[in-house]
Amino acid sequence: MSTTKIGWIGLGKMGIPMSQQLIKAGYSLTAYNRSKVKEATLLTAGATTAATPALLLQQVDIVIIMVSDDNAIQDIFNGRDGLLGVNTTDKIIINMSTVSPAISRQMAQLCNQQGNHYLDAPVSGSVKQAEDGTLVIMVGGEEAIFEKAKPVLEKIGKLVMRVGDTGAGNTAKLVINTLLGIHAQGLAEAVLFAQQNGIEALPLLTLLNNGALSSPFLKIKGDAIVNDSYSAAFALKHIAKDLRLAKDLGLSTPLGEAAYETFQQAEPALGDEDIIAVIKALRK
Ligand code: NAP
Repeated sequence: MSTTKIGWIGLGKMGIPMSQQLIKAGYSLTAYNRSKVKEATLLTAGATTAATPALLLQQVDIVIIMVSDDNAIQDIFNGRDGLLGVNTTDKIIINMSTVSPAISRQMAQLCNQQGNHYLDAPVSGSVKQAEDGTLVIMVGGEEAIFEKAKPVLEKIGKLVMRVGDTGAGNTAKLVINTLLGIHAQGLAEAVLFAQQNGIEALPLLTLLNNGALSSPFLKIKGDAIVNDSYSAAFALKHIAKDLRLAKDLGLSTPLGEAAYETFQQAEPALGDEDIIAVIKALRK
């Protein structure tokens, strides 16, 4: 059993299964979530809780954050009882949320001034991979700090890779999610094109799942289309946010632009449904 004490902030769809991997691996875990009701699952799994991010930071060696977006990160670091409002040194703060490289660079600088360390470590994969401990984790930050954090991250992911300095993990993640948005729109359009010509989703997906284009994404999202079941594993509002962040980084390719437009338009009506609910927007 490791003596490293872990703090976890953000118990959403991803945060709950990811933090549970660390409890399973024998780490002592203290959790914080803005909505207290979501902490119950972690308490049952053997964690303790802290009332605020500041109190959490005082109790642990490493803090891992998995929240929605840049605004949430601002609140957790700079908000009332936030991580930056407390005197601690030599803690490692790992931000696994999908956020902008700019906010990571800003928070890394503030953490360094405080005497702590910051890594950006977003993940590729969804709830299923979080439950299996098979996420792909891309890290930005100082090499020596990365090496210290790696054994912990390896309990959550099947691949943990440093891609560069602070913000590089976020940049890699936005590149991957741009492809994800394009891919989701492509799958939805293929199903609609097939249906327009008399081929239903099930036979089309059976063909695709047995061919060279087969992938875990195609299988899971194809099943969702066939079952007409769009409850969110990865909420459409998150890919709309990621494509906005990619635009801020200069995304201007034809397919990237198309995916950006499609998901921005779909978000008001379908934001809380799964990414593949984009098919409903395209059907109109
Ligand atoms: P989620 O289910 O929507 O959970 C969001 C979490 O962020 C909740 O714990 C929420 O707290 C917290 N939060 C939001 N705003 C906050 C604020 N202002 N202050 C404090 N906490 C705040 O999201 P998720 O699906 O777990 O995704 C989390 C991150 O991982 C996102 O950046 C997403 O893009 C990324 N991601 C998701 C997936 C996926 O498949 N779901 C895959 C890869 C990466 P409350 O409970 O209080 O609302």
